[in-house]
Amino acid sequence: MKHITLIKGGFSNCYLIKEEDTLILVDVGSSNEVKEIMKRLSDSSDNKRRQPIVIISTHFHIDHIAGISYLLCNFPDAEVAFYKKVKDFLTRKEKLSIPSIMSWFGNLPPVYLRQERHIPSLIEIKKDDRVGIPLPLLRRKVSLKYEVNHWLEDGDTIPHAGDWRVISTPGHTPDSACLWCEKDNALISGDTIINMAGKGELNLFCCDYLKEKESFSKLKSFFNVKNLYPGHGNPIEYKDDLLSEVKIRK
Ligand SMILES: [Zn+2]
Ligand SMILES: [Zn+2]
Repeated sequence: MKHITLIKGGFSNCYLIKEEDTLILVDVGSSNEVKEIMKRLSDSSDNKRRQPIVIISTHFHIDHIAGISYLLCNFPDAEVAFYKKVKDFLTRKEKLSIPSIMSWFGNLPPVYLRQERHIPSLIEIKKDDRVGIPLPLLRRKVSLKYEVNHWLEDGDTIPHAGDWRVISTPGHTPDSACLWCEKDNALISGDTIINMAGKGELNLFCCDYLKEKESFSKLKSFFNVKNLYPGHGNPIEYKDDLLSEVKIRK
């Protein structure tokens, strides 16, 4: 859709959404993506209008959050929003969940090998935040260099963008959430639904596949998705009954 732009350059997809009075940046996963965002905004008048900027992520994984503090260096007034479950990690009430070893070796490599950026340069990595790493020795690294301005509940609207709602979809991780815009029938699906094969599939690299299936059933029964913006793989746009073709392992 015209106002939702896919920004590449990281390990995951980042989306720039231009709403009437707000810019929303979803899943800013690397400093490289931040550079791309800056380029896009300096080419347009959006940056000069000084509308609020909201940075939001579909879940607390490094490939979806590593660019946030670098982005804040460029937009210090931007507001950061997370789904409330992330707070449990930051307060160390809960450890970051780790997908099974089988999942790491079997289900992750096919996704990453499809990304454009396999080995980022050292300079780039220096600017990236090293938090949200689902590995045994690194899962406790959760300290953020910035403040979280908004903690959102399931069903809450995104601050300054009343058309977009946060929908809790645990499974890939307990804090996974999708972003839904009813007026555009658009779903930003994070790592819950990815798209490696063209029609979308439930992510097999996950902490709890059963929960992910439940979350998917909820999405399917409540929302008429015609535009899908996955965390990995290409968006699917203007397609009726899109979720009925998403591949699910029985
Ligand atoms: Zn993830
Ligand atoms: Zn991801």
